[in-house]
Amino acid sequence: MPSKTNFLRFPKPRKSLPPIPFLDLGVAHAPLRKAFLAKLGDLIDRNEFILGPEVDAFEKEFAAYCGAAHGIGVSNGYDALRLTLEAMGIGPGDEVIVPDFTFAASAFAISHAGARPRFVDVEAETFCLDPSKIEAAITPATKAIMPVHLFGHPADLDPIVAIARKHNLKVIEDAAQAHGATYRGRRVGAQADAGCFSFYPSKNLGALGDAGMVVTNDASLTDRIRTLRNCGSRVRYQHDFVGYNNRLDSFQAALLRIKLKGLDKANRLRQKVAAVYGRYLAYQAMQSKDWAKPVYHLYVIRSESRDKLRDRLTAAAIGCGVYYPVPLHLQPCYKSFGGKAGDFPVSERLAREVIALPMFPELKPAQIRRICGVVLS
Ligand SMILES: *Cc1c(COP(=O)(O)O)cnc(C)c1O
Repeated sequence: MPSKTNFLRFPKPRKSLPPIPFLDLGVAHAPLRKAFLAKLGDLIDRNEFILGPEVDAFEKEFAAYCGAAHGIGVSNGYDALRLTLEAMGIGPGDEVIVPDFTFAASAFAISHAGARPRFVDVEAETFCLDPSKIEAAITPATKAIMPVHLFGHPADLDPIVAIARKHNLKVIEDAAQAHGATYRGRRVGAQADAGCFSFYPSKNLGALGDAGMVVTNDASLTDRIRTLRNCGSRVRYQHDFVGYNNRLDSFQAALLRIKLKGLDKANRLRQKVAAVYGRYLAYQAMQSKDWAKPVYHLYVIRSESRDKLRDRLTAAAIGCGVYYPVPLHLQPCYKSFGGKAGDFPVSERLAREVIALPMFPELKPAQIRRICGVVLS
């Protein structure tokens, strides 16, 4: 924080500038508010609250957007992952390979399915699962690989899928941060066995509450997930499995249908924001591969003095966030696996160095320049 003397000495104290939020959902929602409220009114009049025509339509539209044959709307992204694992028959005694550097829900879905997450280090450039380190982690218990398209950058899917096919493993894409990102020209989510999406409000496509979806080309997997999400029942009150309540609300699906129309435009604007940042910060930003078109869920840079940078940004009223400060193998909840410092050097370094700067489609070039000025100061 500037001291009082600094305050007097500088003609334009930083504090007089308006704050720059980390994320501004209000500006994105303002023009949609009328359509949202009209839809809510319709659904109240039609007594449509859970699953139903809006969910069916959103499943079709979002699956088609991803280039997948089927979509199954579920309660959130975490449950999308867990239901997919369970529907694949993955559970106790099984292992699933997951990047060490990701949001904890990726690994928790594996743990809650009863299986064991097997952590693998990530690539220093893309922050995503490193294909060259996967085979060493495969054991006779391995059943699946879960690449995460972290911060909106696709993981290197072709070599990952090739390794999976060679060892007869499933591939589940955790695409919760990458709606619309492309890998070699193809949208992520439908490139292997199943793709799981979250529509948490801050995601590239966000609901006004919790929501998620699995997309896949596999009809029998679709049927199993559909049944599991709704109390294990295909026909009312006849339960083929001991299922769950992981249904999607009609209202969230209806709002997501409205927002899906604007997803590509919003992603293009995020790419523009990233390009402006890149002019100033390229050398410390997450690198994008030429086979990838990332959608910048977050704009992340690395800094050896990350915590000081965070303090400078906070003092300048600029939002920022640390994603993720503790790698999975060092999390208290996975202590029993015996992970130690040094096991996954890239992941550990990223956990020390990464910081996310404000990122949303409506961020203005002048704001980005101001942010970069603070980063480079
Ligand atoms: C957000 C997120 C999830 C979980 O999604 P929720 O809808 O919050 O349950 C899973 N994996 C990753 C990588 C995420 O970012």
